[in-house]
Amino acid sequence: MNEPMLTIVVPCYNEEEVLPETIRQLRNLREELIAERLVSPESTLLFVDDGSGDATWDIIYKASLRYPEVKGVKLARNAGHQNALLAGLFAAKTRSDCIVSIDADLQDDISVIRDFVQKFHEGYEIVYGVRNKRDTDTFFKRHTAQWFYKLMRAMGVDLVYNHADYRLMSRRAVEELERFEEVNLFLRGIVPLLGFRSTTIYYDRKERFAGKTKYPLKKMIAFALDGITSFSITPIRIISLIGFVSFFVSLLFGVYFLLLKFTGHTQTGWTSLITSIWFLGGLQLIAFGLIGEYIGKIYKETKRRPRYIVDLDLFNLPMPQPWHQS
Ligand code: UDP
Ligand code: MG
Repeated sequence: MNEPMLTIVVPCYNEEEVLPETIRQLRNLREELIAERLVSPESTLLFVDDGSGDATWDIIYKASLRYPEVKGVKLARNAGHQNALLAGLFAAKTRSDCIVSIDADLQDDISVIRDFVQKFHEGYEIVYGVRNKRDTDTFFKRHTAQWFYKLMRAMGVDLVYNHADYRLMSRRAVEELERFEEVNLFLRGIVPLLGFRSTTIYYDRKERFAGKTKYPLKKMIAFALDGITSFSITPIRIISLIGFVSFFVSLLFGVYFLLLKFTGHTQTGWTSLITSIWFLGGLQLIAFGLIGEYIGKIYKETKRRPRYIVDLDLFNLPMPQPWHQS
């Protein structure tokens, strides 16, 4: 049997500082894997430029001219990490038996890809890379990430703990993934839903090789909120539950207040009134906001807008080129 064709997909957004090194290291690794007869010599590296404003595409394009195994897909505008990754997976699946996705910043130990491929040889269709320890991330990042996983789990979303988007997928798995047409795709939640034979590989996460994180706090919160509301309606259930509880408590209070009235101990009542108004008012606003969040989701999904737009695809050449570029 022939060795499997591997494609390593790397989403890149303003990664000019780290990219040359990433390309160098991944090319070396590819050579090693080919020499070890783990992957076929037709294996490639696919870099997805997620609408970067710096020299990222330049670097990818020049590397693709120099090295035949380096390919690039250029998105027409910034679509976000998840969508850039999807664009890469779907472009790659035409000529790959298995696809590894990895960040451009060399935080994830690339030598683990060898273990991924070995697992693929053993018949696993999905291999999750799981971080052993994260002491290279900042204290803040580590803890917010832990809360994120705990919260997601508590909300009933089946996530692989401490797994980011570093994983191997078989072509079959990627083809099935393509059937999940939701606009707001949260890969870490979706991939376990595919349900193919899967396993995990542990590795140590390193520091970013160069450049800055593209996930500041604001994006992290949006990511978490998106993840939860795309996968679970537990928040709405919690709100309904609180509603029921306060309803029954208010009934008890009503009885109590009536008793007080009939026994002549009338209350001045201002404190209880003002606190319950604020409490229930606040609760109602939260509930509206939360329901609005879901309606917003429905709104976005019904529009069926494309998740990303490809400008240039050097992986699936020949493809029709716009006249001003040919
Ligand atoms: N990324 C992307 N589009 C974006 C933001 C990030 O393609 O809009 C890429 C980025 O280039 C990197 C990966 O997603 O390869 C993960 O981003 P980053 O390392 O900044 O996130 P962190 O590791 O800090 O969570
Ligand atoms: Mg990173």
